[in-house]
Amino acid sequence: MRYREGGDLDTSSIQDRRGRGGGGGFGGRGVAVGGGGLGLVGILVLVLFQVLGGGGGGGTGGGGLGALSGGLGPGETADNSALEQSCDDSGDANTSVECAVVADIDSIQDYWSQALDGYVPTDTVFFSDQVSTQCGGATSGSGPFYCPADRLVYIDLTFFDTLRSQFGAEGGAFPNAYVLAHEYGHHVQNLLGTNQQVTPGETGPTSGTVRLELQADCYAGAWANHATTVPDESGAPLITEITQADIDAALDTAGRIGDDFIQENLGGGRVDQDAFTHGSSEQRQRWFLTGYETGDPAQCDTFATDDLG
Ligand SMILES: [Zn+2]
Repeated sequence: MRYREGGDLDTSSIQDRRGRGGGGGFGGRGVAVGGGGLGLVGILVLVLFQVLGGGGGGGTGGGGLGALSGGLGPGETADNSALEQSCDDSGDANTSVECAVVADIDSIQDYWSQALDGYVPTDTVFFSDQVSTQCGGATSGSGPFYCPADRLVYIDLTFFDTLRSQFGAEGGAFPNAYVLAHEYGHHVQNLLGTNQQVTPGETGPTSGTVRLELQADCYAGAWANHATTVPDESGAPLITEITQADIDAALDTAGRIGDDFIQENLGGGRVDQDAFTHGSSEQRQRWFLTGYETGDPAQCDTFATDDLG
């Protein structure tokens, strides 16, 4: 994966709440992830949605409202100045994980702005360790997530290290972008009201919860199909190259955040389909590929098919 040199990166869709000293890089901070394996099952989960979703928050989903401002918790401040400095050229995304994430989010939202009538851009919050949201508090251990109530994506960037160290993923810029594109897929679902079809807390291989997650994977694939052609504000694509190796790496990641892989390798060791929330590894790969190969979000109707793979 390569990003264009010499362009602008727009950090206005990021709220950097990592706090003082967090802006410069991501060394060394111990993550609270992994305390009992099963904490990791929350990965990429709409955990908070399942707890609260459909209820109060869902009711505001009238569509055209501008992005709600995410409530900052006590002691939390957003400060993008360090990010703006280190990511002032789009080419910085080729060497910096955080700049790559900024570029990914710009690209993902450029795509949806032209693919979906009425798309409303929203921010991603960078946090470290824990964060307050309108869906409640969350920690790094939850993995990245989308909160429908405040319409924000939340991520502790150390999650990408966790994917490699604990899930054994090969990792890389494109798998990281896939993770972000999946979360923005949930934002699209929120704008469309799709998540209101789902009974919060429902699990199982054909549950609405799984269908919602597989659709978000498919939406991520649809973006990936267009990523090297969708223009940024200057008229040129921010991403200049995605290779087959990148696609394979994303599929590797998708395979490691499937319910069966997590249950077998990070959970109790036994696969329990009734507890599925995201779909199997194979299903996640399949739906990402469906989006990627067709480039058409309309092909992502996981709610209309009996064949989830
Ligand atoms: Zn998800």
